[in-house]
Amino acid sequence: MKYSQLFGKTQRQTPKDETSVNAKLLIRAGFIDKLMAGSYSLLPLGFRVVGKIEQIIREEMDKVGAQEILMPLLHPKAIWNETGRWETAKEVMFQFKKDKKEFALSFTHEEILLDLVRKHVQTYHEFPLKLYHFSTKFRNELRAKSGILRAREFLMKDLYSVHTAEKDLDKYYWEVADSYLKVFKRVGLEAKIVEAAGGVFTRSHTHEFQVLSEAGEDTIYWCDSCDFAQNKEIAQGKSGEVCPKCKKGKIAESKSIEVGNIFRFGTVYSEKMNVTYTDRDGKKKPAYLGSYGIGVTRLMGTLVEVSNDEKGIIWPEQVTPYQVHLLVISDKSQVISQAQEIYQKLQKAGIEVLFDDRKDVSAGEKFADCDLIGIPVRLVVSDKTGKGKVEWKERDKGKVEILTIDEVIKRV
Ligand SMILES: [Zn+2]
Repeated sequence: MKYSQLFGKTQRQTPKDETSVNAKLLIRAGFIDKLMAGSYSLLPLGFRVVGKIEQIIREEMDKVGAQEILMPLLHPKAIWNETGRWETAKEVMFQFKKDKKEFALSFTHEEILLDLVRKHVQTYHEFPLKLYHFSTKFRNELRAKSGILRAREFLMKDLYSVHTAEKDLDKYYWEVADSYLKVFKRVGLEAKIVEAAGGVFTRSHTHEFQVLSEAGEDTIYWCDSCDFAQNKEIAQGKSGEVCPKCKKGKIAESKSIEVGNIFRFGTVYSEKMNVTYTDRDGKKKPAYLGSYGIGVTRLMGTLVEVSNDEKGIIWPEQVTPYQVHLLVISDKSQVISQAQEIYQKLQKAGIEVLFDDRKDVSAGEKFADCDLIGIPVRLVVSDKTGKGKVEWKERDKGKVEILTIDEVIKRV
């Protein structure tokens, strides 16, 4: 991609109305645009990052046997009345009237999924069901101040599983928990699995995935030597105490960002919505529901919060919008055409390249933009590099090397 053609350029000014690091950097670097508080467009660079995150999630969902679908965002009031959530979730839902009928915009999909199940599945041998989708969620956030960490409209992956026995749900619940840890690791985040309160359910029925960060709105207690972690809202211990699990480690207290959550709803909603199946004994029984979410756009925001410096973003290579950022620093037509050749050669080798081909832009500006955008590898072609060679520098390192194109291709 030639930077001169790319929609969404860098900005020098920090947006005045943004306080969060993720929104400031993503807006300045040209990844997102703000429509209003809590509502952002993904520009091409941001869309590419989100696309890579989605693909990692999709691969891990396939590994736990889930099938991808797509459910509607516009829901009738009647379906939310079946579980009572039209009233109990009123504050968080966007509800409205049109031509005397009432609707809501999706804030989650348990009811819609269970409606699919009762229409399409009848007997025990058709279970378990594991269905997921990527879709927009709407939440009426009163304080939308954390950029894309807490937006009114955001992209989420939600998986639902439906089982005929509680122990099957439990088994799958922990399979998904493992799969989520793999997802976070693959996108470049270290997430902790944390016991959580989860509203009306006891803490053993729900877990959160939390990434340590000062930007987080949650506080967790975690052990410095084992995997024990609890949300402060429910925690029984205190920081500095000995870990109740391993009896060795010390409990630390940290701010954290919630990047995923998993719930075991059991038969609560199935009973209300009459989602039953015919068992081996011929009797109708309610199905067991599990629900598992990952905030996809929130993951992008979290990556920016935990991986940046005073110059800009530092993308992990798994989700970077482009693998290398090629800069040409010269007025000489010979050097410019050399850079163009290198750009084509890299692309032919299957490498994703952002090529800063702009004229009338100073070297200093190009370097600053490159650091702000945060692609892991910077390649520079200049009067000094010599024919067929480029200067290689990694975003998070100071070392500069001169390499041939073949060496670059090998390394990337
Ligand atoms: Zn411990």
